[in-house]
Parts: sequence; C-alpha cells; structure tokens
Amino acid sequence: MIIYRSASDISRYLARQSQGGRRIGFVPTMGALHEGHIRLVSRCVGENDLAVCSIFVNPTQFNDPKDFEKYPVTLERDIRMLEAAGCHLLFLPGVEEIYPQGMRQLPAYDLGYLETILEGQYRPGHFQGVCQVVERLLRIVRPHNLYMGRKDYQQCMVVKKLLMITGMPVTLIPCDTVRETDGLAMSSRNLRLDKEQRQRATAIFRVLDRIRRDIRPGSLGALKQEGIESLVQEGFRADYVEICRAEDLLPVQDWDGTTPLVALAAAYLGQVRLIDNLQVSF
Ligand code: AMP
Repeated sequence: MIIYRSASDISRYLARQSQGGRRIGFVPTMGALHEGHIRLVSRCVGENDLAVCSIFVNPTQFNDPKDFEKYPVTLERDIRMLEAAGCHLLFLPGVEEIYPQGMRQLPAYDLGYLETILEGQYRPGHFQGVCQVVERLLRIVRPHNLYMGRKDYQQCMVVKKLLMITGMPVTLIPCDTVRETDGLAMSSRNLRLDKEQRQRATAIFRVLDRIRRDIRPGSLGALKQEGIESLVQEGFRADYVEICRAEDLLPVQDWDGTTPLVALAAAYLGQVRLIDNLQVSF
C-alpha cells in the first residue's frame, strides 16, 4: 500500500491512473478502523482497479470540541488492517492539505431540511463540515465509486445531495451496517466505552429491533416514546428515536403499512454519543 500525505501528489498520481483507464474506488474514513470500515474497503478492492482509503479526522464536522479531542487514533493498526484488506493507496493528509486556505471561509451548502432534522438538529453545522471535507477529498481523489456506510444513514443522503449540487460524476455506493455479535453497530467511538457501558450499549440496537418487530400501520407516536423510555432506563441520554421514510428521511407520524421506513436513534452513554438505524418493513 502506498501512503500519500500530499494532496497534489496523490491527485496527480490518480489522474494518471484514471487517464490510463483504471477505475478508482474511494473509502473516506476518520481512522480508528474496525470491521465495518474494512467491509467497505474489501468491497472497494473487489469492484475497482484501485482502492483508495483516506484517514482524516475532520475538525469542521465536530460540533463538540471535546468529541474531536477525544476521537480515537490507532494509526499503526489501521495501516496493518488496510494492507491486509488489499487497499492500494492510503491518503493521510494533515489539516493544511485539506484546508490550504484555512477553515474560516469554507463553502456553504444548501442541504434543505436534511440539515434541520435528526443529526442535523442535534449537531448544528455537522453536515456542512461533512460536505466540506467530502467535496475536497472527492476533488483530490476523483473516484468513480464512493463507498459509505448506511450506519450513517443521513450522511449518505447528505452526500447524495452534495453530488447533485456539485454535479461530480461519482457513484455513491451505500453499504450495510456491520454489527458486533450482540447487535451493537461497530463504531470507532465504541472504543471510548468502558466495560459496563459497552454492555449497556447494545440497548440502542434492541430498541430499534423492537420497533422493527412491533411496528403496525397507524400512529407511530407511542412506539417512538417507548423507545426513548427504554433507552433512558438503560442509562442513556436520548437525543431522538425517530421513524422516517427510508427514501427521503421525512419523519412519519402515521404509517400506511407500505411505505418503506427506517428507524433511527441517537443517544449518549456518559460522554459518548452513539447512533444507529434499522430499515423497517412490514
Ligand atoms: P467514520 O470513520 O466513522 O467517518 O466512517 C467512515 C465510513 O465507514 C463511513 O461511510 C461510515 O458510514 C462507515 N462505517 C462506520 N461504521 C460502520 C459500520 N459499523 N458498518 C458499515 N459502515 C460503517
């Protein structure tokens, strides 16, 4: 695996490869890699001539500075995992490579309601930061295929919108969430849970799974409320438990029994904020 730290160097290299007819796949990450990331990388390796991964903890997408400071870093292990997965190139930029003009005057994106619901509501500015870094990375890497996890369901929708706004010729490939055996969605932030929190953390999956099993046509208010109460009982501080249309994430109050849905939750265990979602059908 070749490691590039310079944006212009990797950009030049990849432009040549692209001109030579090679298909480029890209997996952007913030490191502290786990099996969920590796599943994306393996798929990217299998479906492209060149698989590129980036590791960059993007300051502009953290609305909480403490979350940024405490974001886990496991670089040597990450590199070993990427090599084992057959990744061809790792882009490992510093902040100045991504934001050479500084972080003050970055582009603003019109994301519409996607920015004011769910994660957008509870993490103001987060999706602007996501778009800033993803647009910059895409302009450097210029991939044909972009691999992202459905674990961050709303992020996938935001990036789809970013591709529409910018007109970049990139195919977004959403990939299923990889879970631990007890159902907990794999996440770099799980590393910050202590042993007791780690055991409780699975409640977030159980709440979503219960919604998936108990959902019936009609009003969904009670189901959402029960979900929040279960999380609180398990010691979480819940931001939301929502049920939305899978297609556009608009919240659903009364379900017709046929529209595909997704149940989503975000909650804190101590200082650690976890999110998860499950697709729901009848
Ligand atoms: P992150 O490093 O958290 O920014 O994640 C990088 C990419 O990996 C994003 O597209 C995530 O949605 C994806 N990802 C993170 N966790 C998982 C998981 N458990 N299963 C599948 N994809 C994931």
